[in-house]
Amino acid sequence: MNVPMPIPGHIDPVPVPRDPVVRADGRRDLLGRSKDELRGLLAEAGLDPKQAKLRAKQLWHWIYNRGATDFGVMTDISKTMHPWLAEHFVIGRPDVVEGQVSSDGTRKWLLRSPDGHDYEMVFIPDADRGTLCVSSQVGCTLTCTFCHTGTMRLVRNLTAGEIVGQVMLARDALGEWPSQPEGRLLTNIVMMGMGEPLYNFDNVRDALKLVMDGDGLALSKRRITLSTSGVVPMMARAGEEIGVNLAVSLHGVTKEVRDELVPLNKKYGIEELLAACAAYPGANNARRITFEYVMLKGRNDSDEDARELVRLLRKHKLPAKVNLIPFNPWPGAAYECSDPDRIRSFSNIIFEGGISAPVRTPRGRDIDAACGQLKTAAEKKSRAQKDREAAEKALAGV
Ligand code: SAH
Ligand code: SF4
Repeated sequence: MNVPMPIPGHIDPVPVPRDPVVRADGRRDLLGRSKDELRGLLAEAGLDPKQAKLRAKQLWHWIYNRGATDFGVMTDISKTMHPWLAEHFVIGRPDVVEGQVSSDGTRKWLLRSPDGHDYEMVFIPDADRGTLCVSSQVGCTLTCTFCHTGTMRLVRNLTAGEIVGQVMLARDALGEWPSQPEGRLLTNIVMMGMGEPLYNFDNVRDALKLVMDGDGLALSKRRITLSTSGVVPMMARAGEEIGVNLAVSLHGVTKEVRDELVPLNKKYGIEELLAACAAYPGANNARRITFEYVMLKGRNDSDEDARELVRLLRKHKLPAKVNLIPFNPWPGAAYECSDPDRIRSFSNIIFEGGISAPVRTPRGRDIDAACGQLKTAAEKKSRAQKDREAAEKALAGV
């Protein structure tokens, strides 16, 4: 039984009512289902238990290991059964509204859910790896002041199918089926797209279980990182039930500054957060916790801040590395990025304190794909539309 998440005051997720998405043709989508769920669906559609179990196993393999979207290719399932499957089911993918490629090779996809919500995923190729940045929610309820996603009004949790669907879509685009252990372009996953993954715990867990299954998408938990802004009550469960690498958006070392930047800090303060990090199952010197720290000019980037950061991480004996993120600007943001010299000095102090503190190279800034820049075109449009309407009203003297 899952214990419901405690309600964190005014920054609680706003549930957006959502009818279960039923396809117009009545067929059920198999994307994102576990073996047990597949078995249940097959039984519901009329297969006897033994058949349902066998077919579920076969379907699961075709879906997650081979990337099949068409029942016709499933050679170990008798041909006579293919039309029956196609009559009852589909194997879907998120709808792609738009794809963009940055001058640095970063790719961003704007995706749309069947009920008309937009979300984004980003693929960041490097010489030795390829990282997919996956969204967990449409928008985010947490209103961190330096993050564009936090200004979105629309919020809903993505389903497990929509989360794992991002990975499968990327595999389609990269031509990486069937799953292979070697020579992949997509090697790493970061839950760092839109949304707070620990506010959508069950769906994120179920999706990542499919991603990590060795017979399916087969990405090791060591190559997956979940980033949280600090939802303390869910961190232990994340370690136990998902077990991926943890990244924590710290961004400030005093209550005053972190309260401003990450309002969730008013609910779960720095000490409590670091204690939860120290207790994170699976964290050790070989698997360090990443502390993300956005560099904001004159707000959180002094030498004193850097020294305090070292003190805090040492005090809690954390197997830590610090990731310094140059602030990525967006229209209307109230912050500026720290100067390169300031960032270097900040980084040096942390290194001297015995903690690694590389500076993250911004990727995909020209297509608004960098950290904190994700905000869907549809939302931007609706804002633009609103502005136009306001201007028209003003002109009309209303
Ligand atoms: N909601 C989760 C994960 C998504 S954000 C979280 O907050 O951890 C991924 C990282 O990008 C977080 O560390 C976030 O704080 C950071 N970020 C957000 N806006 C940013 C911006 N404008 N510039 C640089 N980093 C930003
Ligand atoms: Fe949400 Fe993370 Fe952005 Fe904060 S930084 S508003 S938690 S997506």
